[in-house]
Amino acid sequence: MEKLKLSEYFSNIYDNGEYPRFKVLIDGKWVKTKDTFDLVSSVDESKIAEIGSVSKEDLDLAVKSANDNKDKIRGMAAIDRLELINKIRKEIEAHKEEIVKALMMESGKAYGSANGEINAAIERLRLSMEDSRKIMGEYIPGDWSSDTTKKIALVIREPLGVVLGISPFNYPVYTSIAKIMPALLSGNSVIMKPPSSDPIAMLMCAEIFRKCGVPSGTLQVITGSGSIAGDYLIENKNINMISFTGSTSVGKHIAEVAGLKKIHLELGGKGTAIVLDDSDLDLAAKECVKGSLELAGQRCDAVSRVLVVENIAEKFYKKIEEHLNDYKFDNPLKNNDINMGPVINKKAAERIDSMVKDAVNNGAKLVKGGKFNNSYYEPTILEDVPLSAQIANEETFGPVITLIKVKDEDEAILIANKSNYGLDSAVFTNDFYRAWKIMKALQVGNITLNSAPSHGTAYFPFGGVKDSGAGKEGVGYSIEEMTNIKTMVFNLGAKDLGKPYSGQFKD
Ligand code: NAP
Ligand code: MG
Repeated sequence: MEKLKLSEYFSNIYDNGEYPRFKVLIDGKWVKTKDTFDLVSSVDESKIAEIGSVSKEDLDLAVKSANDNKDKIRGMAAIDRLELINKIRKEIEAHKEEIVKALMMESGKAYGSANGEINAAIERLRLSMEDSRKIMGEYIPGDWSSDTTKKIALVIREPLGVVLGISPFNYPVYTSIAKIMPALLSGNSVIMKPPSSDPIAMLMCAEIFRKCGVPSGTLQVITGSGSIAGDYLIENKNINMISFTGSTSVGKHIAEVAGLKKIHLELGGKGTAIVLDDSDLDLAAKECVKGSLELAGQRCDAVSRVLVVENIAEKFYKKIEEHLNDYKFDNPLKNNDINMGPVINKKAAERIDSMVKDAVNNGAKLVKGGKFNNSYYEPTILEDVPLSAQIANEETFGPVITLIKVKDEDEAILIANKSNYGLDSAVFTNDFYRAWKIMKALQVGNITLNSAPSHGTAYFPFGGVKDSGAGKEGVGYSIEEMTNIKTMVFNLGAKDLGKPYSGQFKD
């Protein structure tokens, strides 16, 4: 594979050598860490860079700087914060192609997926204007209660202090920016830890934040192992909030050790699509293929299993096979039309393969795919998957269309709700009442009618229940997670103001 080469604009963030050696952003400066780890491309498993591996001293300094400098962002006029974000958005847009290319090289994303991720990040920044309308409060007159006559209250939103963001490998840029932007906008300083598998595009964006003038020390971006560096930070008492997107197992661990900090967890899922016999089968098949295979299935909101009612199952299976034929699977760097590239690494491909084999051993029919070469797992169709198979219940995170026959919608609801997860789902039907029944019954954070789930910029709020997490991300909603409500009570009675309670109408 060609070498990773960045333009002069990004020259501060790495040192030249046989491989670029990336630095970390601490206390407003790009600093070289003592240790590094190798970054291996998902495209061909070759080494493309060395990434900084922070020490405990680096982390202590990052936490100290985030605390020492938090008043710089809190004290900045809101309009300045908004304009700063606007400037960052334009600058990311100006460097988009270069960021997309780096993201493709490190993560193996197809052009459409990588470009889509950066577009979503840009759009998320653009929507900061709408977020800003949520950083408000209310005035509550107290004379509606005998307890508070002559008092009024102002309820205001204040920043929490230092927000730690931790993001996953499948959307390393978007999920990071969807945390950094609302945190800064609402006056918090931020420590961001992107994933180890593909942190470079995010480091490039961090340089854009720095160059655009984010106050020094209010954004730290550190790299290093999640289980060491991340783990060290989540216990730190000088961090006020953790916004984590990643696996359920790490999310549960964070909830156990974080102590009294505020935590927001966006975790794994088992997105279920339910296809009923009155639905537009063409649309349902097209959406289920896209929902299962986009980003090689490595999405928390992927269609991870399809429950299809048995009287149309065979017809639906045929349509799924037809739609899959149009899918281009190859090395994403070959050309921009490739729909799907590799999964993140060979280990992930092996994990997916063991789930597919387990399904076949349990009686599922392998109709297409089921093979892999290094990190390239073929788009795969499994039909008549029994509920006893692992893949019927566990998060797949791979390009497998898992088709399960059910008797009717009631059985579909029962199966869907047995899941430990509760993130995403879809229902395909043209009957309003059946749609309503299912959309009300499913224990999930999100459900979409007649389309695969797709969250793009999180213009609609997004988040899970059960093992899929706690809290909501999205325009306005992230702000709520990242601010505290302070109630200010004013006793007007001290100066004989406010309305006295007469008590005369009480029965
Ligand atoms: P992961 O293994 O949980 O890692 C996520 C992040 O946590 C990485 O930055 C990782 O660092 C870090 N980490 C690992 N162990 C840690 C620890 N003990 N303390 C603190 N941080 C730690 O998840 P992933 O494999 O990257 O991503 C896939 C998962 O994310 C899937 O389950 C997917 O469903 C979920 N996800 C959920 C959403 C949502 O919105 N609900 C969105 C996207 C993805 P390293 O990379 O250094 O290990
Ligand atoms: Mg991982």
